[in-house]
Amino acid sequence: MHAVVCIQQVPDTQELQVDFNAGAIKRGGVPLVVNPFDEFAIEEAVRLKEKHGGNVTAVTLGPPSADEALRTALAMGCDGAVHLLDEAFDGGDTWATAVALAKAVEKVGEYDVLFFGKATVDGDTGQVAPRVAALLELPMLNFVAKIDEIDFDAKAVKVERLLETGREVVRAPLPAAISVVKEINEPRYPSLLGIRKAKKVDVPTWDAAALGLDAESVGSAGSLCKMERLYQPPARAGGEIVPGEPADAAKAVAEKLIDQGII
Ligand SMILES: Cc1cc2nc3c(=O)[nH]c(=O)nc-3n(C[C@H](O)[C@H](O)[C@H](O)COP(=O)(O)OP(=O)(O)OC[C@H]3O[C@@H](n4cnc5c(N)ncnc54)[C@H](O)[C@@H]3O)c2cc1C
Repeated sequence: MHAVVCIQQVPDTQELQVDFNAGAIKRGGVPLVVNPFDEFAIEEAVRLKEKHGGNVTAVTLGPPSADEALRTALAMGCDGAVHLLDEAFDGGDTWATAVALAKAVEKVGEYDVLFFGKATVDGDTGQVAPRVAALLELPMLNFVAKIDEIDFDAKAVKVERLLETGREVVRAPLPAAISVVKEINEPRYPSLLGIRKAKKVDVPTWDAAALGLDAESVGSAGSLCKMERLYQPPARAGGEIVPGEPADAAKAVAEKLIDQGII
């Protein structure tokens, strides 16, 4: 069994700051973490390895600091990691990011499952996983809350997808791309031994040329979307607080809504 997990390093949501002048989420001077949904993806891949044997490779595209995210993945139980690092990748949209990731996954070699988080907490588009799956012509199972069955010999997987109204059970052949939601597991904390071992792992860095891509097809040059404007909508005016006991206040609110023709 070989699972590949795509992870992104993101600013800690508690410390998220937006630089409206630069039109970007601040990355310098704020704590950076593994995207929380990607921790569930790492955990699921490592659990598959523990149950069925094999190995797990983590892949990230990001600045030099993203090495830390890969070390966390290694400390959680991944066996290898690859860092896509090149100034040519800067400013990429979800398309350009997916093009580079898809090439990297092909270069990593044969795999059974390609894991993703359902979305990142900063960009939050949820587009990267389906784009990579489409480029690699893989079945895309997204919002997966449970892997019911997986058979690496028969090359088949059955999962439960989390919908707003319930769960959908889906079968697909392997290799498949799976994006996970937080209901799937409880990610482990890296052990001290794991952290020590992770520091010693040799993590290769691949640039665009190593992926067989020219600089024009990645990063801002290869992006299909250009950000026009990043702004904060004006704060809404505060509402009215109706004082009194809950039953009286509720009655007063209802009367006000009736007076204003809202209900
Ligand atoms: C015009 C434009 C310019 C941009 N410029 C920048 C910029 O300069 N710097 C910057 O940091 N961002 C930039 N972004 C945002 C960047 O496109 C996204 O961070 C990136 O494409 C991932 O999209 P997302 O965050 O919506 O991920 P989603 O699609 O929500 O992520 C889903 C899953 O895909 C995987 N994944 C996502 N990104 C990566 C990754 N990089 N490596 C490995 N796995 C990943 C993870 O498993 C993740 O959980 C830009 C976006 C646009 C549109």
